[in-house]
Amino acid sequence: MNIRNNLEKVSRELNSSGCKLIAVSKTHPPEVVKEAYDAGQKDFGENKVQELLSKKEYLPEDIKWHLIGHLQSNKVKYIAPFIHLIHSIDSLKLLKEVNKEALKNNRIIDCLIQIHVAEEESKFGMNFQECEQILSSPDVERLQNVRIKGLMGMATFTDDCDQVRSEFRSLRQLFEGLKQKTYPSNIALEELSMGMSGDYQIAAEEGSTLVRVGSLIFGERD
Ligand SMILES: *Cc1c(COP(=O)(O)O)cnc(C)c1O
Repeated sequence: MNIRNNLEKVSRELNSSGCKLIAVSKTHPPEVVKEAYDAGQKDFGENKVQELLSKKEYLPEDIKWHLIGHLQSNKVKYIAPFIHLIHSIDSLKLLKEVNKEALKNNRIIDCLIQIHVAEEESKFGMNFQECEQILSSPDVERLQNVRIKGLMGMATFTDDCDQVRSEFRSLRQLFEGLKQKTYPSNIALEELSMGMSGDYQIAAEEGSTLVRVGSLIFGERD
């Protein structure tokens, strides 16, 4: 597994799209993350708070950490001091908790709203209507220590490229539609986080700005 080569390969594929690569390092030890860091990668994604914390202490301070997995309200306090972007906001309750902990840390924390676009039942996220409600809620305007930067979504796990493409496209359409509206200053819709190892090229073609790629860089997980 040559991490440097893998990073170069994915980056080259993304080159013309202007899409940013987040290296998903979940299940891999700090030494392996350091290898990617030394190859120039600075944005890393983890899906579990505990795993992120235990890895972070062995790694350089200038890494930008992304929380990409389901986040429980009671764990927000552990990542609030440093997290770069939370991709997985799936309720107003969670957003309020992030705001509270961001305030304690004298920070503004960037967040994405996770949208459910896949066919599978099990995945977290809001539907389109819930997302629109949150963005227009007067509650959100008062949350001055969070900034809603965009949306995140995962396509159905399938070989059917047309289905994956159409799911990404519908997320993009939601994003473009929402961008037309006027919002308070803590909502700035700029980022669309979609695409993983199996579908990041399709996601990039469909307008993703952030792809979250793990196994193509670090190898298959157990
Ligand atoms: C694990 C994970 C990824 C990366 O998956 P790969 O298929 O290994 O690229 C991306 N996004 C989320 C939310 C994940 O949990």
